[in-house]
Amino acid sequence: MTSIRGFLAAVVFFGIVFNVSAQHPKERAFAQKVSQTSMRNHVRNLVASGNRLGGTPSGDKSTDYVSRSFKRSGLATMIEVDPEKLVSINHEWQLQVMEPRRLRQLIRNEWLGGYSPSVSRTTAPLQLLEQEEGVTSELSGAAVLTERQVTDRLYQSLVNAGVVCILSYAPADSTLYSDWAMISDLRESNANAIPLFNLSYGNGTRLRKELDQNTPVTIRFMSRTTITSGSPKTVVATLPGKSGKYYLVCAHGDSDSGGPGADDNASGVAGVLELARVFSSMMQSGQLSVPEKSIKFVIWGSEYYSTEHYVKRHQEQLEEILGVLNYDEIGTGASRDCLYFESNDVPYHEDLMKIFNAVGEEYVDKPGFWKEATTNPSQGGTDSYVFMPEYLDRLDVPRATIPSITIYTAAWNRPRTIPQTPGWTSRAWKGHPDSVTIDYSRYYHSSLDIPERTTEREPFNMSWAVKAVGIALLRLAW
Ligand SMILES: [Zn+2]
Repeated sequence: MTSIRGFLAAVVFFGIVFNVSAQHPKERAFAQKVSQTSMRNHVRNLVASGNRLGGTPSGDKSTDYVSRSFKRSGLATMIEVDPEKLVSINHEWQLQVMEPRRLRQLIRNEWLGGYSPSVSRTTAPLQLLEQEEGVTSELSGAAVLTERQVTDRLYQSLVNAGVVCILSYAPADSTLYSDWAMISDLRESNANAIPLFNLSYGNGTRLRKELDQNTPVTIRFMSRTTITSGSPKTVVATLPGKSGKYYLVCAHGDSDSGGPGADDNASGVAGVLELARVFSSMMQSGQLSVPEKSIKFVIWGSEYYSTEHYVKRHQEQLEEILGVLNYDEIGTGASRDCLYFESNDVPYHEDLMKIFNAVGEEYVDKPGFWKEATTNPSQGGTDSYVFMPEYLDRLDVPRATIPSITIYTAAWNRPRTIPQTPGWTSRAWKGHPDSVTIDYSRYYHSSLDIPERTTEREPFNMSWAVKAVGIALLRLAW
């Protein structure tokens, strides 16, 4: 028994060593080719084309950019057009404090909420709204300052009371959005009567202080928007393998908040483009053979919406998808230098998660690689979830079991510590073994999710995410 066990152990041992030494040169060569510069350029170019919302001219611009980039990498590229939906285009807006004069320079980094109507230049007194019950006809003709999230109900009652404009500094938390605004939208409608401006905590509380002291405050504002129907466009580029079955590597191409969206999610788009570029160039130079499995690189025109329509369009071929690898926010991280792989609590994700976990552990702390890596339980909130069985049921398409994961370096706007799924503690995780702290972005869904605050500060996040997925794909698809 002992000798057989020893023999088997030796086989396993040499098998692993052989495998590792056979794999690693290609993995290293891949990692060396990943260019932060090219990804930083992508993010800057994408952000310069606006908020890239699917179905808007800015979204179309981004679609063109992405498809040109794939084509430059030599990949067959096509555009899949989604059904029309209502879209909101912010062309321009202004918001300024007129009185007191000393606050004329106060307003910066504000953001016009999506689905705000066009209004011509208007000057109005500012009034404070503390309680929802405080909405009375006395507010008629006034602009209203509130720390509240503007719900449909609150919005309607303010409109009914004759309010002409809303300034909200929600979430009104002194630790968040201090000098920049969290972006919230109005209800998706072309019948909204008055605009909503999102303010920073600093500006909101400053104006509030004036109003509390009974200082008369007057603001001037205007907005020029178009609310119309448009078709989000999804770009699909294919790296053909020996089998038509494929891994789907994706990112949402829009800024889901309607803001600049450098981290969320130009960073993810840049990651997909870079993976495509490096694989293609390695194949062209003969460093990589034709993969066993195909890879499709997909940039969704509109988060969720385009993913859902992709699933519907391809519902008869869903079993061709071997796995979904989704990037969402790979451009920053406020408190850790960690790469996350979600989700490890879905039983049929096990094989895929094990590969990512192994890659995370093998390369941690190596020069040019992450300082921490871990798998984590489901949190929801991104495109990979559209491929899960319950979601497919909701879309009324045939059920398929598609491992579908998201790779990221930050999520949400505050850190979140959650219990780790038993058995999934990574050797590349440096926190408490039984929990995982999800890093966050200070600029999440905000007016300052711009390259200077995110991807330019920490471009290494994007290259870590590309290296991890690239190495995993070398193990999965070749
Ligand atoms: Zn996102």
